[in-house]
Amino acid sequence: SKAKLFDEKNDIKVTFKDVAGLEGAKEEIQEIVEFLKTPEKYTSIGGKIPKGALLVGPPGTGKTLLAKAVAGEAKVPFFSLSGSDFVEMFVGVGASRVRDLFKQAKEKAPAIIFIDEIDAVGRARGKNNFSGSNDERENTLNQLLTEMDGFGTNTNVIVLAATNRADVLDKALMRAGRFDRQIYVDLPDIRERREIFEVHLKPLKKSEELDTEFLAKQTPGFSGADIANVCNEAALVAARKDKKMVDKQDFLDAVDRIVGGLEKKNKIVSPEE
Ligand code: ATP
Repeated sequence: SKAKLFDEKNDIKVTFKDVAGLEGAKEEIQEIVEFLKTPEKYTSIGGKIPKGALLVGPPGTGKTLLAKAVAGEAKVPFFSLSGSDFVEMFVGVGASRVRDLFKQAKEKAPAIIFIDEIDAVGRARGKNNFSGSNDERENTLNQLLTEMDGFGTNTNVIVLAATNRADVLDKALMRAGRFDRQIYVDLPDIRERREIFEVHLKPLKKSEELDTEFLAKQTPGFSGADIANVCNEAALVAARKDKKMVDKQDFLDAVDRIVGGLEKKNKIVSPEE
């Protein structure tokens, strides 16, 4: 049976409003939205539209969300796949998937291709030969490089890739005309956590006393994904107690649970800011 090649979404509703904090990253990536919307503005003057950008940062900080927001803002199709999907592939399959992906995206251009966990395929070649599947990984990586070199700057397909290990990536990926831009997506500071809470509190029925400043103070070291998780967990805690509204204590219980989970994962929770 043929596993799914990649995911294609044509109606992304995510916009920059859904991405809290990350002002610098949003500002940088806004330019890509402009390239997708009005390419002629740049090409008619002789400019070359970049083909790719790398989103770099810790897990759960909103890299996927930001890539989706680009597609949502520009109203273009979003093709996605994860680098880790290639790891278990038979010889030759990875490269042909990459070829298919680019073919489809070019047909639907303007479009975004998003490659999550690019480090799984994009690790420096000739290293980490322990896996045994290295040849296949290299074939896939080579195909990716070939595709990026192969399409013209007027194709209007932009490839966004995410990683939390930019240090292990093959330098060939970062060469001009490939992923020559890097956009940093960091863990949120206290003010950004507050903004992320605001986004994820919105759908909840909550008591008045809830104060995002307090919640942000309780969650040093949390990523956006952790905060989304806290909000949902708090709602579940409240519902379990047959409450009609989520209150402060439910949040404190949820934070305790998530901190417990984080400690189990050996994640470092930074001290109070
Ligand atoms: P990974 O590296 O683990 O793939 P990621 O950086 O791609 O993570 P996302 O998948 O974008 O992170 O984030 C997961 C979820 O966390 C999002 O769907 C969203 O609900 C929430 N989230 C993360 N960052 C933010 C943010 N800045 N604003 C609002 N929500 C956020």
